[in-house]
Amino acid sequence: QAATNNLEAFWMPFTANRQFKQAPRMFVSAKDMHYTTADGRQVLDGTAGLWCCNAGHSRPKVVEAVQKQIAELDYAPAFQMGHPKAFELAARLAAMMPSPLDHVFFTNSGSESVDTALKIALAYQRAIGQGTRTRLIGRERGYHGVGFGGISVGGIVSNRKTFGTMLTGVDHMRHTHDPERNAFSRGMPENGAEYAEELIRIIQLHDPSTIAAVIVEPVAGSTGVLIPPKGYLERLREICSQHGILLIFDEVITGFGRLGSPFATDFFGVTPDLVTTAKGLTSGVVPMGAVFCTSDIYHTFMTGPEHMIELFHGYTYSAHPLACAAALATLDTYDEEGLLTRAADLAQYWEDGLHSLKDCPNVIDIRNLGLIGAIELTPIAGEPTKRAFSAFLKAYDDGLLIRTTGDIIALSPPLIISKEQIDELFGKLRSVLNAID
Ligand code: PMP
Repeated sequence: QAATNNLEAFWMPFTANRQFKQAPRMFVSAKDMHYTTADGRQVLDGTAGLWCCNAGHSRPKVVEAVQKQIAELDYAPAFQMGHPKAFELAARLAAMMPSPLDHVFFTNSGSESVDTALKIALAYQRAIGQGTRTRLIGRERGYHGVGFGGISVGGIVSNRKTFGTMLTGVDHMRHTHDPERNAFSRGMPENGAEYAEELIRIIQLHDPSTIAAVIVEPVAGSTGVLIPPKGYLERLREICSQHGILLIFDEVITGFGRLGSPFATDFFGVTPDLVTTAKGLTSGVVPMGAVFCTSDIYHTFMTGPEHMIELFHGYTYSAHPLACAAALATLDTYDEEGLLTRAADLAQYWEDGLHSLKDCPNVIDIRNLGLIGAIELTPIAGEPTKRAFSAFLKAYDDGLLIRTTGDIIALSPPLIISKEQIDELFGKLRSVLNAID
């Protein structure tokens, strides 16, 4: 692909920039709810960066904590050694999750959290004498990052088809007979429990004693904000428990307040065996992820039977001091400003604003939960993704950052957004939708 500008000779941002041969747009600074562009314009952040800057940008406490940390302890090996903030952060995170999920592994991204959780699930099953359980089950239109684990269990075929070898023994739950349609959007009945029966079909197909774990996003984000029908996650939990299968929630997006509770686990009242997180953990400031699991799983993995002692898993940058400092200061900011439940207070206001766009041209569906929203547009025949990308460009010109995924506009503003800024966001979006073809 030819570079569209000299700037892109050696690096280019991914996705639509390439597809539509756009010159790069650049942000040079950020504060609270806004980015500043290279040409000096203010852009309202409607996406919290990439679903990650939940506390807003360059928050004072976080800036100060990271600056102090780099001067004090820049790095500590994660093997054999720890440092005080790593232990402090682990204890603090453990206290945030429902009680059985009170142990953590640190990673550096969502993709690493997913790989870590899948490895732990497989190793745990083996350690408890369930070595035949080697299969992993994902879900169609699930997104779990770009590692080989994540693209194998992920349900987006185009993300994996070029790369050849995948994890073996993986299957995906299918929730629609029409692969073009969203699993959980328009036309889905209220009865989610029925949809969870798809897991029974998979179990019968493969034999439950071959299945180690099921991984799902409680609300799928990157594939267009797919809200689970009522009772779906509860029934998945039941089926997994009945059959000795571990349930993994990928909360890389839903974690840290996005739905109005600290985690989707609280929001839906369903407790999985492992939870993957990243993004909001440091509010996007320093790359970091964490996997939560029960103490049984943790201790089996870390100090279990003989063969487990030999196993090796961990990253050079696990529990990096800068990431721990950023995470602790971010958690302080969340607490002090009540941000982990703020989405619940704003949810109705957000919903009203979002749904006021339902009569705009080309809008075929609107979905929302907490402070997440999606507007699905009719695709242009033969040019899928183009209409939403036009909306992205127009919004950017009008001073609003949105995210597009296929022909869906996804919204997930920082949790500090005010009602006036919600009005501004939907006002801008209305004029964008009215302006594009
Ligand atoms: N899981 C989910 C649910 C995600 O949304 C993402 C990123 N959008 C990932 C995993 C991967 O995270 P990262 O890009 O930090 O590797």
